[in-house]
Amino acid sequence: MKIAEVRTHVLDHRLERAFESASGRFSRRQHVLVEVVCDDGTTGWGECLGPVLPNAAIVKAYAGWLTGANPLETEKIWLTLYNALRDQGQRGLTVTALSGIDIALWDIKGKHFGVPVSVLLGGRFRDSVRAYATGSFRKDGVDRVTDIAGEVAGYRREGFHAVKVKIGFDVEEDLRVLEAVREAIGPDMRLMIDANHGYDTLEAIELGNRAAQLGIDWFEEPVVPEHLAAYRELRARQPIPVAGGETWHTRWGMREPVETRCVDILQPDICGTGGFTEMRRIADLASLHGIRLVPHVWGTAVQIAASLQFMAALPPNPPRPEPLEPILEFDRTDNPFRQAVVTTPIEHDGGVVAIPGGPGLGIEIDRDALVRFSLKDDCVQVR
Ligand SMILES: [Mg+2]
Repeated sequence: MKIAEVRTHVLDHRLERAFESASGRFSRRQHVLVEVVCDDGTTGWGECLGPVLPNAAIVKAYAGWLTGANPLETEKIWLTLYNALRDQGQRGLTVTALSGIDIALWDIKGKHFGVPVSVLLGGRFRDSVRAYATGSFRKDGVDRVTDIAGEVAGYRREGFHAVKVKIGFDVEEDLRVLEAVREAIGPDMRLMIDANHGYDTLEAIELGNRAAQLGIDWFEEPVVPEHLAAYRELRARQPIPVAGGETWHTRWGMREPVETRCVDILQPDICGTGGFTEMRRIADLASLHGIRLVPHVWGTAVQIAASLQFMAALPPNPPRPEPLEPILEFDRTDNPFRQAVVTTPIEHDGGVVAIPGGPGLGIEIDRDALVRFSLKDDCVQVR
């Protein structure tokens, strides 16, 4: 079996109502899928995190190293592509593009052997995971406090055990939002906060100290990801566990944050940090240092399926009769093609998501949806 062709599918939808986190405004939803086609007709699918046109361009640039290669040789291909752009790459788009390709190759490998990727990774420790609802962005034209309180109450009614709320805009307003959220979800539902690196160090310390009494599981990306010393300071000077890692790429990018304990919870993104091949190494690194791992997920059903396959194979930790189980980040924001790209949507049932058991990623792509949502005007997300 040889790789015959590498294609990209750039998907786009203009939103009726824009929303924003502290790091970016979403007036359109855009994601890019990678399709790797083999000479025997086997096709694998992957997805890249981040801006669609630069990712698609780099995937196409990698294609020259891919055509004619054996798609089962995932380790060899990963290193070949990484080395090809290593001197100008090492993180960012060269790695997010590589991630989409790597996921597609593992999908092919699973289809070739007739087993889910989770079995190739060593076995399925679980067939479902609990999901937490990600939403609560700031929206145009509404009162943020009442809007988000209403939104999270809906997640509680749907059966989610946990919700993550976007902050990082303004300490006082963010605290008002969090107080209203805790009131709306009651004392038992778990609550996480994500500043999308919108604070400086002193603001983050203040927010953490004042919000801790609301019972918060983790404080995600309090400050910009380059400020590793500030992450360590945050862990020392406020009581909420610190989370981060969605923009740290490869084992090398994770090494210093893990070894110097910048975070209590590490959040690698399979579509950003290097695909299955690198996620395995990062999970081992986190495990070696006793750091909890909760994957970051922000994409279509292709990314959700890849994350689920990976999570199925994460060993129980700690090893005890009822271990802590990994939880799935489940994006609830407006995106009409998130599930439309697959023939069987990956939905939750009372806050629980089943892990597909079919070969590869366990999904089938709806090609009509790829056409329906394909980017028509080369308009890249303006933030
Ligand atoms: Mg985040």
